[in-house]
Amino acid sequence: MISSSFSLKCLYNNLFNLFKRREFVHLSGFDPAKLLEYLEFDLIRHNRCTISSILKPLEYFSKHSHTWFPPSLKWCSECVKKGYHSWLHQFLLVKCCPTHQIDLVSACPGCLNQIPFLLSDNSFSDPFTCKCGYKLSDITLAQWSEWNFHAKIVDDNVLNWLARRGVETETDRLLFISRSVSVDMFNLKPAITSRFPGGEHIKKITKRDYSLSKKFKEHVYDENKQCFRAIDRFVRKKYLANHHICLHTLQQLRKEKEGAFPQICPYAFAYVFWKHTLLQTDHFHTAIRADETNRRTYDGFEFATQLIQNHINDFKEKLFGHTNLYEFDNRRLFDWIVNRFTSDLCLNYFYKWLEIAKDGSEQIRVPDWNQVLIMATKSIPNMIFKHKFNVNEPQEVHIIKKESRNIVELEKIIYNMQCPHKSKRVKKELRNMNSFTPQSVSMRNFEEPNTEQDKSLQVYVDQYVSRLTI
Ligand SMILES: [Zn+2]
Ligand SMILES: [Zn+2]
Ligand SMILES: [Zn+2]
Repeated sequence: MISSSFSLKCLYNNLFNLFKRREFVHLSGFDPAKLLEYLEFDLIRHNRCTISSILKPLEYFSKHSHTWFPPSLKWCSECVKKGYHSWLHQFLLVKCCPTHQIDLVSACPGCLNQIPFLLSDNSFSDPFTCKCGYKLSDITLAQWSEWNFHAKIVDDNVLNWLARRGVETETDRLLFISRSVSVDMFNLKPAITSRFPGGEHIKKITKRDYSLSKKFKEHVYDENKQCFRAIDRFVRKKYLANHHICLHTLQQLRKEKEGAFPQICPYAFAYVFWKHTLLQTDHFHTAIRADETNRRTYDGFEFATQLIQNHINDFKEKLFGHTNLYEFDNRRLFDWIVNRFTSDLCLNYFYKWLEIAKDGSEQIRVPDWNQVLIMATKSIPNMIFKHKFNVNEPQEVHIIKKESRNIVELEKIIYNMQCPHKSKRVKKELRNMNSFTPQSVSMRNFEEPNTEQDKSLQVYVDQYVSRLTI
């Protein structure tokens, strides 16, 4: 048992002095000879074998092995009580304990902080004790005999995963974003299938760097814009049909000449902030140009849906990495896959706004930028695309999906969301109100004599807008 910081320092590899990280994936921060001497066991070899057997079905993912194991501890609260942690617990695609079948924990229940996945006496105050005092395992109460328990894997999904020898066939590829996918999904039947012809429709690419060409980037941008517009039309039709005036009231900051801004309609709230953050328009109350999407530049890949462009790019890179798209230009297949992913992400992100729309509109409050980024990350669809390596061959692309959202849950949210401007009389009143954007108010003040009343109006409008600024 290595317990004192003195022993830790002995194990420490001086060559890695600069990094001071005793990480577990490659054990690069350790001195291999000392490790062997202390443990009487070749931990480095053992680790390598374990990791490679877990990652066997993912061989073709051009990722480094450490990216499949998050840098902070992910553990089973029952296993850890007996001092047990496994590489399977740490594996990104495993979301519940293969032995106890309970959800894994990734933050300290006491202080909600993450615990680094390192051998370090800096992150714990005492063994199995978070700095906040929370005990992951109480070693003073535990019976040492209990620690010798055999963690039998009872989860069939995990057993199936470990039994997979690579993908079904040499040419099949699976495409997904690891954080939103779990091992059980690999046993689900495809929900959607689309067929793509091969051969003559597909251009052989002569220019090696076509994927970086301006023409290709323009194509990707335009596809993304069309894809967003389709989702935008769907959202408006389904959720905003009876709220046109609510939408204009919020977007144009309409109110009576005197008095406060009218109550915000939660549907308008969800829609306006969804679109504003997704497209990253300058102000939520600026009318978006007829083009409805923002500027375009071609420094890198640019998307209309700027908020999620890193997620789309990541996805696109993986697709290129798994196929011979670098040799063959199968635009239809490429667009279909990327657009399916993008539309689900955009729509999930709208549902995230619906979830907070009631409170946000009542309290005139928006999440901060960090929370917005978390909302976007949580919107990444639970989807696995199954396709072939060779895009020049005719093929079927399958989508395996796990509904990230419970339909009943969404209906409940909508049921509780009341539009404050339902009656015809209120709608008529809203139609007769004027727009009070900060710019228009300050222009008015500039042109006309500045009375005390004007000044307080300016303060009021500025405060209102700042409460809704992300
Ligand atoms: Zn467990
Ligand atoms: Zn804690
Ligand atoms: Zn409304």
